[in-house]
Amino acid sequence: MKTCTKCKEPKDRDAFHRDSSRSDGLTAQCKTCRAAKAAERQRTEETRSLEAARHRARRATNGDTIRAKDRAYRAANGDTIRAKDRAYMAGYRAANGDKLRQYHRDRYATDSGPKLEAKARRKAAKVGSSIGGPISYKILRTRFPDCYLCGQTLSGRVQYDHVIPLQPRPGEPQGAHTTDNLRPTHERCNLRKSNARLADLDWYSGPTDIGVPVP
Ligand SMILES: [Zn+2]
Ligand SMILES: [Zn+2]
Repeated sequence: MKTCTKCKEPKDRDAFHRDSSRSDGLTAQCKTCRAAKAAERQRTEETRSLEAARHRARRATNGDTIRAKDRAYRAANGDTIRAKDRAYMAGYRAANGDKLRQYHRDRYATDSGPKLEAKARRKAAKVGSSIGGPISYKILRTRFPDCYLCGQTLSGRVQYDHVIPLQPRPGEPQGAHTTDNLRPTHERCNLRKSNARLADLDWYSGPTDIGVPVP
């Protein structure tokens, strides 16, 4: 005799399935309890797929109405939604800071990523800058191991700065979105530089000849 952990009834060994991984060679729950659990699981799955099918059908017939409702809801509750999103992201960052930092490090160290590059090209086109062939951030990163702004070895988060700005001040030349006009920098140095001219940065200590005519 063996007592089932679920129904707590003492039953013959025949009432249990065999399980060689357990010390007595039998499952903890009796056949009846296991069958009930399997049936329950089956019902849950059926309910779920039925609900999903109903949801799909609703969206197929009333898609426009539902989307309009969603838009109206977001318009009316935008601030609340954004506050919730911000709170969620703050919590996520607090819990996963290291993971996020590593993600950015990997992303910028090896390749800016096709999406980021597509975004950079759209931005360049928008401000009327000329755009060269595909940019290999990997090659740039290899060719220039040092930050061109502070002259120190690159580490941590790296950004790619247009040496001649895509959005110059009035009367100054406009840079192009090309490999020649891009240099890797520390994120902190690029943020510190903002859109100042190199000549105006009293802390600039990178090489004077960076292979690009600097404004
Ligand atoms: Zn049982
Ligand atoms: Zn730097």
